[in-house]
Amino acid sequence: MAGGNGEGKRNGYAGRADILGLPVDRFTLREAAAAVSRAWSGGKFYHVVTANAEMLHRGIKDGELGAIIASADMVTADGAGVVLASRLLGCPVPERVAGYDLMMECLREAAGSAVPVYLLGARPEVLESAVERARELFPGLNVVGRQHGYFNAGDQDRIIAEICSRKPSLLLVALGVPRQEKWIYRYKEKLPPCVAVGVGGSLDVLAGRARRAPLWMQRAGLEWFYRLLKEPSRAGRMLSLPLFLLAVLGQALRKKRPR
Ligand code: UDP
Repeated sequence: MAGGNGEGKRNGYAGRADILGLPVDRFTLREAAAAVSRAWSGGKFYHVVTANAEMLHRGIKDGELGAIIASADMVTADGAGVVLASRLLGCPVPERVAGYDLMMECLREAAGSAVPVYLLGARPEVLESAVERARELFPGLNVVGRQHGYFNAGDQDRIIAEICSRKPSLLLVALGVPRQEKWIYRYKEKLPPCVAVGVGGSLDVLAGRARRAPLWMQRAGLEWFYRLLKEPSRAGRMLSLPLFLLAVLGQALRKKRPR
């Protein structure tokens, strides 16, 4: 856990919020990126989950996902819904730490210190464009390997062996939620010591295949609405946002009720 790895003793780290029984680290983006760079020099496996409301809501229904989130070394508040939930529960996170922003900060840091990076996931052409774009944006970036995310179960051992042989310190996994979290958890004993981050659709954004909401919408906490407009097929999945907030309100009321 972030707290368990000594973050609690560092200045400014405000600990973890408990949202529906799942932990969320109260980090700013800078603090999260700094903790990641400390972790990749630490020689241990370190799992980062970037959790939005949809994932946390899923985590309370899917016990396996919930246990993975609970055991992750870092869980960031990836969305306005999670930030709002932390405020309603009286343990506010300082700001939203979006998976894409954290990935970009980590790539910047990695390029600055020639830290080896491996990218796993996304469609083959998206992955290629993402690597190209990352190298343009972060000169000196040391991409030691990549594998697209549309592989067969039979390729699993080869992929793990390849990642081990390339010895990345940063492993970005873009297989979608919850597959990427389950993949990281399942193979963490076989993977080399590194920081593994589930980054969802972030490689599509980096590759220019998907766009993030305009900054004013991100700042107003409306990125989910932008995504809904762009991908109406996600409407069913997004129903989890109001359900998540209702469950959080229930938790807040239970906390207030005198015993
Ligand atoms: N993906 C993949 N293999 C799969 C399914 C999905 O590599 O079998 C990739 C997909 O191409 C995309 C990312 O996983 O790059 C998931 O994107 P999405 O926007 O769905 O992320 P989520 O909302 O699940 O975080």
